[in-house]
Amino acid sequence: MNASRPPLIAGNWKMNPRSSIGAVALARDVRSATAGMAARTVICPPSIWLAAVAAALDGGSTEPGHVGIGAQTMRSEEAGAFTGEISPLMVAEVAQYVILGHSERRQYDNETDAGVAAKVASAVSHGLLPIAAIGERGDERRAGLTAVVIERQLRAAMSRLERIAGSGLVIAYEPVWAIGTGDAASGEDAQAAAAQVRAILAESDPAGAEEVPILYGGSCTPDNAAEFFAQPDIDGALVGGASLDARSFAQIVSLAVEARG
Ligand code: PEP
Repeated sequence: MNASRPPLIAGNWKMNPRSSIGAVALARDVRSATAGMAARTVICPPSIWLAAVAAALDGGSTEPGHVGIGAQTMRSEEAGAFTGEISPLMVAEVAQYVILGHSERRQYDNETDAGVAAKVASAVSHGLLPIAAIGERGDERRAGLTAVVIERQLRAAMSRLERIAGSGLVIAYEPVWAIGTGDAASGEDAQAAAAQVRAILAESDPAGAEEVPILYGGSCTPDNAAEFFAQPDIDGALVGGASLDARSFAQIVSLAVEARG
């Protein structure tokens, strides 16, 4: 954690919980459990409940101490014949953030590096803060390709941005083998990836690179979060499973605030 960047903790609810009533209740619980904590907190409900959650949270906010709202994906286009999809205009009415390039979308929905590049640029041009997710699969890690995959996915994600500074870009390093498995990366490996990310960002914009929050994601829980937040290039977490429990999620937020000092 670096004192110049406020922590950012985002919860990816994926296709949970099971009802809109549950989603609104969880959003309210997260708000009360994290109220006043000096971190940017974000919840990313299923798109069908973004409006209900936004109404329950007075629209959401990117300010530390408040809860922001994020979509889990979107198309890059503003409108058109894209059955089942949502556009940046639609997301911007009800959210401040959008997760792009999550590995589950790369795996199950054919999300490509080129598609992520278009979406990141579109998010920025619509005033949304993109949380671009990158990370290697288990087979890629075993083949020694972690750094190669990180570089390829990161360069693609930023390729259509005019500049990093002021873009609001957030990078989530999420090794695919760590997501939902209980087998989190080590703090040391996560730091190596985050340092690589910051160095690549700095090649095109040294000052902008210092602004970008880099999150760790992959089986992050209250039991292991402090190890990640102790790393100089890690500014928070993208949390899946543990974000469905307001108390666990708030504990992670609190650990991030403590680590910043
Ligand atoms: C995720 O889906 O982005 C994630 C990190 O999930 P989990 O925390 O459950 O591993």
